[in-house]
Amino acid sequence: MRPDILNSLFVPLTTLKGVGPQVAKLIEKLTGPYIVNLLWHLPSGVIDRRFTPKIAEAPGGQVATLTVRVDGHAPPLMPRHPYKVRCTDETGVLELVFFHVKGNYLEKLLPLGHKVVVSGKVERFRETPQITHPDRIGPAEGEVGNAGMPPAAGATAVELVEPVYPLTGGLSPKTLRRSILAALAVTQELPEWLDPAFQRQQHWPAWREALRSMHNPEDENALALNLPARRRLAFDEMLANQLALALIRLQQRRLAGRKVAGDGRLRRAVIAALPYALTSAQEQSLREIYADMATDSRMLRLLQGDVGSGKTIVALLAMLNAVECGYQAALMAPTELLARQHLDSLAPLAEAAGVRLGLLTGRDKGKGRAATLKALAAGELDLLVGTHALFQREVEFHDLGLVVIDEQHRFGVHQRLQLSAKGRATDVLVMTATPIPRTLTLTAYGDMEVSRLTEKPPGRLPIATRTISLDRLEEVIEAVARKLREGARVYWVCPLVEESEVIDLAAATERHALLSQFFGAKVGLVHGRMKGPDKDAAMSAFAEGTIEILVATTVIEVGVNVSAATVMVVEHAERFGLAQLHQLRGRVGRGSEASTCLLLYEGPLGDVARSRLRILRDTEDGFLIAEEDLRLRGAGEVLGTRQSGLPEFHLADLTEHQDLLLAARDDARLIIDRDPELETPRGQALRVLLYLFERDAAVRYLRSG
Ligand code: ADP
Ligand code: MG
Repeated sequence: MRPDILNSLFVPLTTLKGVGPQVAKLIEKLTGPYIVNLLWHLPSGVIDRRFTPKIAEAPGGQVATLTVRVDGHAPPLMPRHPYKVRCTDETGVLELVFFHVKGNYLEKLLPLGHKVVVSGKVERFRETPQITHPDRIGPAEGEVGNAGMPPAAGATAVELVEPVYPLTGGLSPKTLRRSILAALAVTQELPEWLDPAFQRQQHWPAWREALRSMHNPEDENALALNLPARRRLAFDEMLANQLALALIRLQQRRLAGRKVAGDGRLRRAVIAALPYALTSAQEQSLREIYADMATDSRMLRLLQGDVGSGKTIVALLAMLNAVECGYQAALMAPTELLARQHLDSLAPLAEAAGVRLGLLTGRDKGKGRAATLKALAAGELDLLVGTHALFQREVEFHDLGLVVIDEQHRFGVHQRLQLSAKGRATDVLVMTATPIPRTLTLTAYGDMEVSRLTEKPPGRLPIATRTISLDRLEEVIEAVARKLREGARVYWVCPLVEESEVIDLAAATERHALLSQFFGAKVGLVHGRMKGPDKDAAMSAFAEGTIEILVATTVIEVGVNVSAATVMVVEHAERFGLAQLHQLRGRVGRGSEASTCLLLYEGPLGDVARSRLRILRDTEDGFLIAEEDLRLRGAGEVLGTRQSGLPEFHLADLTEHQDLLLAARDDARLIIDRDPELETPRGQALRVLLYLFERDAAVRYLRSG
């Protein structure tokens, strides 16, 4: 149950004074449905209206705030002409100019003979100072309010330093500002959840005061990310994030696990069948995984490794450890294509070990599916590879001991927990091929154990990466022709042109047609809208070599493994993110042949796009690339937050506030040690914090939640 004290913040925007359904809809689009969301919408700058000259001293081109007397109204004599209001002070005349004036509202807003304050950009038109559509108009101090703009209680009618907020179409700055002030007005002081000593040491204000000052900056500098008020709010948000993750972890640890330590016979059989030796990074990771599995609490470990670092074999060996103990294990991939590919690469090894391997995806229907489900429930399958389909309710395991989730960032926390709920004491290993910077790992997984495959299997040659302007397409096609004669297999990736798959597809189809003119039947096409079996057919034709050029939309992005492919062409590379380009490039360089990656761009390039392409040219180190990506784009965009399952932050900036994230992690650890049920007074306040940032799910894990 949400603490009562927060109720006033978790109500629809329409409950705010002056916010009707229409405005509420616009604000909701911008910030979210509740008042609390509005509080997190911080200003991006300020307009300084503190310059208050006399009329004669107001230079053109500058924002000024003037106190003047309304001298005369001149409604337009002809349609489309402006409505002018003549104002004066002791130094001169100022004209206020309005277009499209309806009714008599200006007469009410600017009553004849009254003193008013107007603010806006002054322009000089034939020597007469003018303000066209002043940003602000209000009664001067001491004047009685009028129908147009009653003086705000206790405030001057015109804010001299006016915060500027990110907007959305149709929403005026004035309306948004008014709504935010209304939201602040219904915001109560909340119990302090910060550790008092830490708060004192940081010189941080109380929560409401911090919010209030962020929304009422004294000047541009007051918005800096490193000021106490902003840091406090950032810390609050990160603490909520870290505490929620810590609670989920605690819960996970409390659930009984099982000691899983097999005798090694299946693993030995598989290792004997491998055409290579494990790298020391793989062996180290396996030692860590086996050690976790051997304890009687549940494993929750992240295996990070760049594309091609050899995570799959690590997963298989961990799964076999479970099978050796009589349990089942499941491997979940984010796409059908990858699930099938895992199946293909695991099948011969599973056979070598004599374990029974099955597949379950959304595409499996009817009798085959029923048979798989039955075998699974009866314990006649040891290993199951699949997609999201594994989450479905009718999927029942006989005794699931380990779940491996591949390409983890595509799945959210909830899905993760859902799957581990399928077994009685299931260990979980999550694998990600996108090297996530340390910071993001922490926000997404909290204090989760991490194993890293920092070393690639031996014998890989560096990938020669070149950036080429799209104008030189012909040269690229010639180069591809040369490579084909040498026996290369080529990926040709067309980008997401817009958020529409249809248009996306059109680009790929068109490119496929063009390349077919040059290379005939050697060119294949694979895209997201193809039916599953057609996709598979195209992929295997490419793997077998009946197709030598595979034109693809980004469906090949994740994990596809064709070791004979040695050329990767990416069109409009400037439209892809760094991490994505790195992933794409990782599709080549998997075999023993030298590989090439051609990044085709359309100029002129912006600064960020140029830096991105340069970084790719300079390094293949996925972790370094990920750090750069974070720096260049900001965390939210690194993986495309929506599909990434990573949390979004409104107040915290993961680059600027990294130190706070570490502090929040340490604080969360301490809290969990000392007050795991959040029962002390500070614990109660921390519950408020969790609800405030909508981490309710975590509160449910408290025994007395
Ligand atoms: P990823 O980490 O991207 O999932 P994979 O598991 O698909 O990488 O491995 C990429 C390729 O490297 C596969 O063809 C795999 O057989 C091979 N591989 C894995 N480990 C080794 C190793 N220790 N030595 C040589 N090749 C390896
Ligand atoms: Mg993989």
